[in-house]
This record gives sequence, C-alpha cells and structure tokens, in this order.
Amino acid sequence: MAHLSEYDIENQFQATVKKTDRLTPAETEEVREILLEVQQPEFQCQVDQSFGVIVNVSGEFGNTIHHRLYSVADLPDKSNGKTLITMLVKRCSYVDEFSGELYKGVGSNYLCDRQVGDRITITGPFDLPFRVPDDKNANLILIGMGTGIAPFRAFVKHIYHDVKDWKGKIRLFYGARSGLELLYLNDKDGDLTQYYDEATFEAFHALSPRPHWEAPIELDKVMEQRAAEIVEMLSQSATYVYVAGYEKIRDMLDKGFSNILGSKAKWESRKAELVAGDKWAEIIY
Ligand SMILES: Cc1cc2nc3c(=O)[nH]c(=O)nc-3n(C[C@H](O)[C@H](O)[C@H](O)COP(=O)(O)OP(=O)(O)OC[C@H]3O[C@@H](n4cnc5c(N)ncnc54)[C@H](O)[C@@H]3O)c2cc1C
Repeated sequence: MAHLSEYDIENQFQATVKKTDRLTPAETEEVREILLEVQQPEFQCQVDQSFGVIVNVSGEFGNTIHHRLYSVADLPDKSNGKTLITMLVKRCSYVDEFSGELYKGVGSNYLCDRQVGDRITITGPFDLPFRVPDDKNANLILIGMGTGIAPFRAFVKHIYHDVKDWKGKIRLFYGARSGLELLYLNDKDGDLTQYYDEATFEAFHALSPRPHWEAPIELDKVMEQRAAEIVEMLSQSATYVYVAGYEKIRDMLDKGFSNILGSKAKWESRKAELVAGDKWAEIIY
C-alpha cells in the first residue's frame, strides 16, 4: 500500500454531509456512518475505492493539511450527476510516544463532529486492492476488524447485486469488541445478514471475551473453529484472501492461520504463494 504522502491531493471536491448516525451504543467506542453528497460530476467513485478527507489544522508552526483515507462502505449512488457515498468512521485517539499524553485523532474527530449540512473537502477516489476475481468460481476469504468491515460490506453487496451468479464460496470473518459493535451484522443494522440466504455466503463473527478489560478479540479462535473449511479453501489455487482493519489484525491472523495449517512455516509459505499470485490483498492502518 502506498504511503499516505504519495497520494495525489491536487484533485479536491466539496462534499455535503447528508446524514450522520452513530452505529454503536453510547457506552462503547463511537463509530459513525456518514452519508456524503458530492455535486461535481467529475468525482466518479466505485465500490472498490477509498477517498481522502482533508482537514486544515492551524498550529504553532502555521497551517498544515491533515489528510486521511476512508473506504467506500456501500454501493455509491449516482443520479443527476451527483454521487452519494457512505463511509464508516471510528473516533480515534492515540498516545504520544514522547509525552505519553492522550490526543484526539484529527481526521476522525473532525468527521465524527460534522453535522448534517456541513461541507467537507475530499480527495481521490483512490483504488483499494480488493478486486473481484474474473473467475466466478473463485473462493473469497474476507477478514475484517472494526471499521475494516466497510470495504467488505460494499464488496459483498457489489458481488451479489452487480456481478451476480457468483458460484465460489465467500466467507466473511469479522471481529468486534462486543455484540453491540458488530457493524452491519447486529439485530439493528443487519445489512449483511440479508446475504445469509445466498448459497455461497457465510459470515462469522468474533468478539472479545471481556470487552471492558481490553481482552483481545478472538478472531483467530473463530477462524480455527472453521479450520477444516479454511484448509480446504486454501488448498485450491482459486482462493483469494482479503484483509482490512487496524494493525492488531496482522498478528492475530498470522497466529490463526499458522494454527490452522499446522505451523508458522506452512502459513508463511502459503501466504507467499497468495501474495505472488495476487490473491492476497490487505489494507491495514
Ligand atoms: C486505505 C485506508 C482505508 C481506511 N478506511 C477507514 C475507514 O473506512 N474507516 C475508518 O475509521 N478509518 C479508516 N482508515 C484509517 C483512517 O485513514 C485514519 O487513519 C483514522 O480515521 C484515524 O485518523 P486520525 O487523523 O483521527 O488519527 P491518527 O492520528 O491518524 O491516528 C490515531 C490512532 O488511531 C489508530 N487508528 C486509525 N484508524 C483506526 C481505526 N479505524 N480503528 C482503530 N484504530 C485506528 C491509528 O493507528 C493511530 O494509532 C483507513 C486507512 C487507510 C490507509
């Protein structure tokens, strides 16, 4: 994945906030779904893309530009030259490694604080690495954590709405801290559950056993419960593995896949094949 500074931010567009809804309950981490309308017809955004959000920050060294990327979280809706795009954003904070102080993430807090009618500056769109394989018999193992569900929600919708006649297996593994934070797979926003009727689709979720104690989300364990099927899928050459989410997912997956395949070396070798064959794609932030 290219470094953030390598993205072209010359092309800028104005987007208006049409809706902003908190998807997670008050006592959990804030994740919002925001619907943006872009009036300029030149902004042509597809499912497998991200876009940037620019925040102008004034600090002690003058004005700076803060640019962050967000995945398209639904099929873009295009009519009358306008484009409606949906994004998911988690309100982030981070601990400064020198001072040890807790700071608010600039981009995500700016977005979470926007109100309906506000205008924001966006860039892009930029391609995500999640391609729909040409072969409709191909298998897809999609693994997301937290807001990493965003690109896969759009991707799965795209396959069943637009590509159609998908014959390969799609297995979505999704990790969230608690059942209330299972975006699009909970009772209230069960958007992805509508694909449970599709013969080829299955979704599995992993939670943290003790969400209030920061215990890790057991994504690796849930994958291990499906070990036989994963081994079978990984034994086929037309199997793609796509991963999205924040950085903790990397170690969890290495652990899970190593256990499933029997050793770290076996997983490293299979992963190298997936990477070499363009069958592994990830966005990790
Ligand atoms: C291709 C791509 C697609 C992305 N898509 C999304 C998306 O759909 N939704 C989204 O919320 N973010 C997404 N991100 C992350 C996003 O770009 C920002 O990094 C995030 O909003 C934090 O920005 P910030 O300016 O608030 O804080 P920063 O100062 O950039 O980061 C603060 C801290 O939060 C951590 N962090 C960043 N994003 C998350 C997250 N989502 N969950 C948990 N911890 C996180 C960072 O590692 C850092 O430690 C994506 C990143 C990339 C590269």
